[in-house]
Amino acid sequence: MYDLIGIGIGPMNLGLSALAHPTPLRTLFFDESEQFSWHPGMMIKDSMMQTSFISDLVTLADPTSSFTYLNYLRSINRLHTFYFYEKLLISRQEYNSYLKWVATQLDDLCFSTRVIDVQDTGDSYEVLVEDVKTGERKTYETRNVVIGTGAKPSIPDTFDSSVIHNTQYVMEKEQLLSKNKISIVGSGQSAAEIFLDLLTSDRSPDLELEWISRSTIFETLETGKLGEEIFSPSYVTYFNQLPLETRQEAVSKFTRSQNGISPETLQAIYEHLYDLTTDQKDRVQIRANLEVEQITHDTSFAIKMRHTELNQVRTSNTDAVVAATGFVPALPRFIDRLNIEFEGDQAWKVDANYRIVRSIATDHQLYATTNLELSHGPAADNLGMSVSRNQLILNDVAGKELYSVEQHATFTTFD
Ligand SMILES: Cc1cc2nc3c(=O)[nH]c(=O)nc-3n(C[C@H](O)[C@H](O)[C@H](O)COP(=O)(O)OP(=O)(O)OC[C@H]3O[C@@H](n4cnc5c(N)ncnc54)[C@H](O)[C@@H]3O)c2cc1C
Repeated sequence: MYDLIGIGIGPMNLGLSALAHPTPLRTLFFDESEQFSWHPGMMIKDSMMQTSFISDLVTLADPTSSFTYLNYLRSINRLHTFYFYEKLLISRQEYNSYLKWVATQLDDLCFSTRVIDVQDTGDSYEVLVEDVKTGERKTYETRNVVIGTGAKPSIPDTFDSSVIHNTQYVMEKEQLLSKNKISIVGSGQSAAEIFLDLLTSDRSPDLELEWISRSTIFETLETGKLGEEIFSPSYVTYFNQLPLETRQEAVSKFTRSQNGISPETLQAIYEHLYDLTTDQKDRVQIRANLEVEQITHDTSFAIKMRHTELNQVRTSNTDAVVAATGFVPALPRFIDRLNIEFEGDQAWKVDANYRIVRSIATDHQLYATTNLELSHGPAADNLGMSVSRNQLILNDVAGKELYSVEQHATFTTFD
C-alpha cells in the first residue's frame, strides 16, 4: 500500500518526488516516456528559462535539500563559474540537464509505464499500469493519487494534419530548413523563439519567413516586480476561493503574464531585423491582426486568414507551417469513472490543498498538479509555484506539516 502514486513525471511531479524523498511517505511515480525529458522539441540553442534558478524543484520549500540547482552545479564542478556568471535566468538546456540529474537519483520513478486505469476500491485506489515495451500489466494499491499528466499540443481542426506543432520544432528543423518559405502561426514565446532561430540560421539570407499573429501587438511578458506577485502562494490562495465567474473573468485578463514574449527575445528579434539588408527585408514578413481560419495542403500549403479589424480574407502560400498554437490539458480517459466534479469545459474543481473535488466524500484523495488554471489562476503552470503546491500536497497526504508553507509573503494585499 503506497501513500501516494503519481501519474506523469514532468517537472511538477518530479518536484513532488524530490520533496517526498526525505520523508517517511511511500511514493511511486509513472511516466510513459522511456526516460525523463522536458519539451525536447523546444530545446532551441540559447533559449532561456522565464523563471529564476531559485524556482528549482526544491529550494523554495527546503534550500538545504540535496536536490537544489546549486548542488547540481557543484556536482558538475560549475558552481564557481555560475557565481561569476551572476545571472538568475539560466538556459533551458541547463535546466533540463538539472532535472535529469535529479531524476537519476530518485528511486520511486518508473519510466516506460503508462497508467491506463485508476479504480476506487472504497478505501483506496487501484492503479493499473502497462509496460509500454512488453505490454505487461500490473496493479498497485495506494491511499492517494496525484494526476500530473501535463498538457498536449493543440492545433485547430481546420489546419491540415501535416502542419508541425512547435513541440516538434527541434526534431523537424533540418527538414524545415530545406524549404524556401516557412510560416509561423502564433504570437507567444514559442512562436517568437522559432522565428528568431530561423531568422538567425545559416539559411536565413535566402529563406522566406512569415510570422502570422492574431493580435495587433506582440505582448511583452509581465516582468514588473509587483506584477509578478500574482505568482505567489498569497495570490493563488486568494484566487482559489473566488466565485467561478470571477475566476473565469480573471484568467482572461492575465494574457501578458502567461503568453507574453520575454523582453530579451523581442530585443534580439528587433536587432536582427534592423540588420537585414534591403533584399532580405523583402523576404521577412511579420503580419499582425490575422486570424488563420484554414490551412490546406496540396503541393504546398495554402493559408486562409481573416483580418480581425478589416474583416477581409487574405491568403498565403508557403512550403511549411509551424503552429505555435498552444496546449490543452492532457486528461486521462479513466477519470470519467472517478466522479470528478467539473466546473468548466475541461476544468476540474480543485480545493485549496489541490484535492480534486469528487461528488462522493472519501478519506483517500485524488490530487492534481495539472489542469489548474481555472482553480488556481495564472500561476498554475509556473515552476516556482509548483514547489509550494507540492508542499501542501505532501502535508495533506501525511496529515501533518512536513514542510512549512510561507504565506502572505507579498507586498500586495489581494483580498
Ligand atoms: C517550451 C516551454 C518552456 C517553458 N518554460 C517555463 C519556464 O521557464 N518557467 C515556468 O515556470 N514554466 C515554464 N513552462 C511551463 C511549464 O513549466 C511546463 O509546461 C511544464 O513542463 C509543466 O510540467 P508538468 O509536470 O505539469 O507536465 P509535463 O512536463 O507535460 O509532463 C507530463 C508527463 O505526463 C506523462 N503522462 C501523460 N499521461 C500519462 C499516463 N497516462 N501514464 C504515464 N505518463 C503519462 C507524459 O509523458 C509527460 O512526461 C514552459 C513550457 C514550455 C512548453
